[in-house]
This record gives sequence, C-alpha cells and structure tokens, in this order.
Amino acid sequence: MRTQTKIREERAQGLLRQQIKAYFDMLPGSLIGNIINALVIMFLFQEKVSSQILGLYGLTMFGLTALRFHSVRKYRKNNLPDEKLVGQLNVIRTYVGILGLIWGSSMMWLISISSAAETAFLGMVAAGMMASGSLALASIEGAVRLYIGPIVTLTLLALLNVGTALAYTSAVLLVSFSVVLIRASIVNYNNFVTRHTRERELRDSAQTVKLLLHDYQEQGSDWLWEVGSDGLLIEPSVRFAQAAERPVEMLDDIPMISLFDNCPEREILIDHLASFRSFRNVAVPLMVSGEQRWWSMSAQPVESESGQVRLRGVATDISATKNAEVKMAYMAHYDGLTDLPNRFLFAETLSRTLLRQKRGSGTAVISVDLDHFKGVNDTLGHPAGDDLLQVVSRRIETCVNEIDIVARMGGDEFAILLPGVHDRDAVEKIATKILEVLHDPVDLDGNQVIIAASLGIVIAPGDGANAETLMKHVDLALYSAKANGRNRFAFFEPTMDDAAQARRMVEIDLRSALNRNELSLHYQPLINVESGDTVAYEALLRWFHPTRGLVMPDEFISIAEETGLIVQLGEWVIRNAVAEVARWPEHLSVSVNLSPLQMKSNSLISTVVNALASSGVAPERLELEITETVLMHETAVNLATLHRVREVGVRIALDDFGTGYSSLNYLRSFPFDKIKIDRCFVEEVDSHEESRAIIRAITGLANSLGMVTTAEGVENAEQLNRLRIEGCTQVQGFLFSKAVSVSELTDLRSHKAISGYSAPVISLPKATPKSVSPRTQKAAKFG
Ligand code: C2E
Ligand code: CA
Ligand code: CA
Repeated sequence: MRTQTKIREERAQGLLRQQIKAYFDMLPGSLIGNIINALVIMFLFQEKVSSQILGLYGLTMFGLTALRFHSVRKYRKNNLPDEKLVGQLNVIRTYVGILGLIWGSSMMWLISISSAAETAFLGMVAAGMMASGSLALASIEGAVRLYIGPIVTLTLLALLNVGTALAYTSAVLLVSFSVVLIRASIVNYNNFVTRHTRERELRDSAQTVKLLLHDYQEQGSDWLWEVGSDGLLIEPSVRFAQAAERPVEMLDDIPMISLFDNCPEREILIDHLASFRSFRNVAVPLMVSGEQRWWSMSAQPVESESGQVRLRGVATDISATKNAEVKMAYMAHYDGLTDLPNRFLFAETLSRTLLRQKRGSGTAVISVDLDHFKGVNDTLGHPAGDDLLQVVSRRIETCVNEIDIVARMGGDEFAILLPGVHDRDAVEKIATKILEVLHDPVDLDGNQVIIAASLGIVIAPGDGANAETLMKHVDLALYSAKANGRNRFAFFEPTMDDAAQARRMVEIDLRSALNRNELSLHYQPLINVESGDTVAYEALLRWFHPTRGLVMPDEFISIAEETGLIVQLGEWVIRNAVAEVARWPEHLSVSVNLSPLQMKSNSLISTVVNALASSGVAPERLELEITETVLMHETAVNLATLHRVREVGVRIALDDFGTGYSSLNYLRSFPFDKIKIDRCFVEEVDSHEESRAIIRAITGLANSLGMVTTAEGVENAEQLNRLRIEGCTQVQGFLFSKAVSVSELTDLRSHKAISGYSAPVISLPKATPKSVSPRTQKAAKFG
C-alpha cells in the first residue's frame, strides 16, 4: 500500500531530523571547545613551530569553526526540507571526518616535535577531544568512528614512532580508551533512537488518547480517521471501512469529503478541513449503501515526525439521534396523522406571508371546523375518526392550489392559507367547493358517514394586519357560521368583534350573577291533552341584570356552557326547582333542563339526590330534560349517568326532538320517559303534511315504547287540535302560558289566569274527566 511505505519513510525522516537537531544542539559547545584546544596548542607550541605554520593551523581551525557556526545559524533559521536531510547528514559526517583528520594529523606532527611532558599533555588533549566528541556526536550514526578513527590512528602512529616505554603504554591506553568510546557511542546511538521512537509513540498516543477521551462515547461506535493537508484519507481503519460499508482499498487516498452528501453541512466540514484547526461534533450526512446516515466529526491537527500537519479525528455514527431530531423537528411542525402542517407551522407561515405581502395584494385565511365530528369518534371509534380526518385533509387539498397551505390546527379544525388572494369572490368559490367536497358521503369501514363543516373567512389586510388578529377574527367568523346553522361559511365582519366583546362582558357578569341573586326560575306549564290539566311545569332560567334588565337564556346559556359556569348554574336550578315543587300539590312535577356539560359533572347525582332528600320530594316528581347531543358525545359514559339518575327514580325526557341530528335510533338507546317534539314541527303542523307525518311517526314510536310525548311551542288552537289527532300526550306553549315567575304561578293556581285563555274552536274528542283536586288549575279548556 502506498501509504504504508510513505509512513515508514516518514518515520525514518523524522528520526533523521531528530538526529540532526541533536547534533546541531551540541555543535556550538563543541566548536568552542575546539577553538580553546586550538588556542592552547598554538600558545604552547609557539616557540617550537614557525609562526607561518601556526598561523595556517589557526586559520584552518578558525575558518572551519566559523563555517560551522554559519551552518548552525542557517540550520536554526530555516526548517530543513525532507529531501535535504540525508545530504545534511553526509555533510556532518564529512565535516566530522575532516575534523578528525585535522586533529589526528596535528597530533601526529606535534607529538613528533614534543618533549615527553608535552606528549603527555597532547595525549590528554586527544583523550579529552575523543571523549567529548563521542558525546557530542552520539546522535549521528557512525560519526564517532569517523571522528575518533583518524585521531586514534594518527596519534597511535606518532606514539609508536616515539618508541619509548611511556609512549607504548600511552598507545595501549589510547586504543582501549577508543574501543570503550566507540562501544559507548554505539550504545548511545541506539539509546538515542529508542528514546526518539518512544517519544514519538508517546506523542502519537497522547494525541489519540486525547481524542478518544473526548469523543469515544460508546465502544465501537466511533472510529479514527486521518487526512493529510491535501484532504486525502491516510490509512483508513477497518472500522472506518465498515462504517462506510466500503472496502478499505476504496477509501485509501481518496478525498474524505467525497464521502459526504452535497449539502450545507458538508460545506462546513470543508471549511474546517481547510482551516486545519481543531473542530468538534460537526454533523454531516452521507449515503451508506443507499441509506441516509449522519456522522459526527471531530478532529485536531497533529504533527507528523516530518513536521507535516495532518488532521486526526474521530467519527461517530449519530444517525439514530439525528433521525430522531429530524423526526422531532417534523413532529413539531407537522401533524402526524394527516401529514399536514400543524398550528405552529401555520402561524409561522402566516406571519411570514403577511410580512412579505405586497401593497395592494392580500392573504386569505379560511378556518374549517367539522360539524359533529365527535359523534363519529364516539359512535364508530377513534380509528374511524382518524380515517375521516385523513379523508377530509385530502379533500380540502383538492380545493386549493399548490402554493396554498392546508394545516390541521388540532382536533377537527383545519385552516387554509391562501397567499396573494384578496378577492372575496375567489375565496367564496373555494369555500363553496370545500363545503361541497366535504359533504360527499365518506365510507368508513362500510359505514356511510355524511359530514358537514363550518367555515370562517378573513382576508388580510382588511380583516387584520397581523396573524394574531386574523386568527382571532377568523375564529369569530367561524363561530358565526356555526351559530347560523352550520354547514356554511361566514366572512368576518367588524360587528362580530363587537358581539364577541359583548359575550365577554356577559361572561364576566354571569360569574357574579349567582352571588348577587340575579337569577331566578320561571315556570311554564305542561298540559295533559286528554284532561286539559296542568301536570307539570318546566323550570326556565331568567337573569335580571342590574343594567341590562331581563336577559333570556338564549343569550347566556351558551356562554355559561363555554365557560363551564353551567355546572354551577345547573345545580342551582336543580336545588331551586326541587325546593319549589315541594310547595306544590303532589300530582304536579317539575322539569329541569340539563346541559350536556352537567352530564360530565361528578356532582350531578349527589346534587339531585340531596335536593330531593332535603325537600322530601318524591323522585318521580322531578324530570330532567336532556338533548340529543348528550347521546352523541361520550355515549357510554353519559348513558351510564342517565341510568344512575333513572335508578334514583327521576324521570328523563328527550328535549328538542327532531332538531339537529335526530335519529329515531336515539329513542332505542335509552328508555326515555318522555319525548319533547320540537317547536319547529309544531309550528308547521297545521300547514305541512310532512310535519304531521313526522309527529305521527314520533308519537307512534313513543307509544309503542311506552313513552309520553310533549309537543312544544303550541301557540294556537289549530296546532293543539292537530297534535291531539296525531296522538300527543302533552302540550306546552304560549297558547296556555308563557313561563312565569313563582308569584304569578300562585295566581295560576288560584284559577285566575284561566280567564285569559279562550277555548280552542276546533272540536276535539271529549276529554275523559279526571278527578281534579281543588288546587289543580286548568290551563286549557276543551270541547
Ligand atoms: P327549551 O328547553 O326548548 O325551552 C323552551 C323554550 O321555548 C323556552 O324559552 C320557552 O319560553 C319557549 N316557549 C315556550 N312556549 C313557546 C311558544 O308557544 N312559542 C315560542 N316561540 N316559544 C315558546 P326560554 O325560556 O327562552 O329558554 C330557551 C332555552 O334555554 C330552553 O329551551 C333551554 O334549552 C334553555 N334553558 C332555559 N333554562 C335553562 C336551564 O335552567 N338550564 C339549561 N341548561 N338550559 C336552560
Ligand atoms: Ca326544555
Ligand atoms: Ca325544547
């Protein structure tokens, strides 16, 4: 492998560099030593040697020393390039050899002219130079031999030439001395190499350990990598190859950056690699065997022995975390069920769109709310509800353009952003289309479901300049669409804002109405068709507001329901109505209206039971009127509550029957005691055959199930007559009396009010006379 040899080569070069460095570190000292030696010799032999020769000797020594000092300076100034290392080593060896030769020959010549004492001195100088030289040259292989060699040889020759016993002894000492020095120099050199190698390894592992400590999180999940200044991968590990799912050979020597996907993260990595500074945890995506993965890269520059900088780093596969992050980000902005943008993304996009909106252009927002979606959820189950929401999402999408945004705001609420749309007609077309497509039956596991929706519409900037105002106004528009009968759209109008304001005022006042005794109950009689006797009264709430005057329930019941106040109000009504009925003759009962919200209240049963117990009223004298909505939402829970109320002995009536989503099926779901036929059928009973047919069907079914029927809103004798023919059991309406206060009720009981009522002109079958207590008032006269 190319890099293997390269590495080996580089390691060798690193060693060379260290050798040369150690040599040059020692050189100035030994040069000074050389000069001192030369000066001492010149001083001692000035009388024996001619000044010319001494001058020449001095010049050579000084010249050589000066040259070497120059080399030291040059070496320290410039970093030695790799290719010059071997050359430099040879220069050193040559210089050392020459120096050895010069010293050796000087010794030889000087000994030949020296006295015995001078010879001893020269021997000492030679020994000293050899010893210090071998220390100074320890880092350069063979240099000691090159230096000592000529000195020993030539001094030895000179000594042998002297031929005295002392000279011979000195020669023997010199040889053994040099053998020791050469042996020592070899050991020194080996030590030098070992020390250097160990140092390098230590440095390497220190860097690695540092990286590992920082970045190894889980064993085996990380791997090391190294790139040169050219960005090419150096010796990728097997672990790296495994992570990249490529053969090691394919990775070696390729630009590391080529592994990663072209994306902004990759650009960041490129910058880091180019800067050659340490960086941490840079996440970059890449494809590994066709699968998107994420690697986190950390690195720091390391210096190779050759002085080259490299980046060595750790890579960690963070795909799992990253994918989770991506998923989280998606979930934060999209709805998991329908894959539509969620409320947050919608709000963000709306704000951005409004900011960018050009003068003269506009942006429309449509808010869509499914009507009675909860019923589907409750009757067909949540999976069916989910399916329905998906169908709705796709259908709404078919009504808008690519650039428009359909979002799910939560539950059964959707919103549509129409950027650049400011034409009312255009928005109206889209709204109409949405209502149309949503109204098509949806097949949910074999169940055909027909849904409808209410739409609120705002157009910016007219209906609001910022997202917050627009969303508030679109809610008001939606509210108005719902209030006007659902399955329709409504554009926002400024008066809606006023209406909302008024509602808020009502809400605030209503909270204190109970404490301030502003509420009271009015009673409207229910009359038995056969006997014409009043059999019960329906309790209806009235609010005497200190400044507004009389406020009717239509104006505040829905607000009380929205705010949850209805639970408290409702309990008050139950207690008061029961307390009131306790004062009435036993055959009279009282009907109390129950809001769906009260069904959810834990205190309902106890309120009823306590009210009855504390006033000693028989339970069957209390009737609770519920509407069909109670049976549409959380049916099981509500049915259980109804059964418990029934077990107490209280009767249950189904109010407003025939409105909304009436289904005769509701009558089978609970054994109601009574059905109250809504006013809308009664109104048309004398003019519309259809209404008569419906009433006939209801009474027929009710009779067969043993239920009482009460027709509401009877205003004239014709209606009464028809209702009687169709088989209604009871009637209630302005024909007999409106709801009146308790004090007026006393009047009614004392028969005074009957005079105000003129008997119906239509002839009716004779009512079976009933034993009537003196206090029973006749609200209607028949015959
Ligand atoms: P509801 O239960 O259908 O009550 C009958 C409503 O029809 C009463 O209106 C009554 O005054 C009115 N009405 C009776 N006879 C006639 C008639 O011949 N012609 C016409 N046009 N109207 C007639 P009210 O008192 O305004 O109550 C409205 C609704 O408010 C009630 O409708 C009921 O749903 C709710 N409500 C009243 N009191 C309470 C209460 O204490 N609790 C709860 N939850 N709701 C209440
Ligand atoms: Ca009622
Ligand atoms: Ca009613």
